Amino acid sequence: MSAKLPSPRSEDAGKPARAKAPNRASACPICGKPAAAGYSPFCSSRCADIDLGHWLGGRYAVPGEPLSREPEEED
Ligand SMILES: [Zn+2]
Repeated sequence: MSAKLPSPRSEDAGKPARAKAPNRASACPICGKPAAAGYSPFCSSRCADIDLGHWLGGRYAVPGEPLSREPEEED
């Protein structure tokens, strides 16, 4: 018969699948805290929403958590 199949790749067998990185030392781009596994690269859903808010324009409130007016307790 004719050779329909291309040369079989046996490379995949030797590559270790990078499932979960233990700690990639990635900091939350919003607040700088260590990123959480479930919210990577953010530290929490809150920061993820904040970033999302930036993408959406940063003016409208993001559905879920209010982030427009944060109580600034610095003064
Ligand atoms: Zn954060």
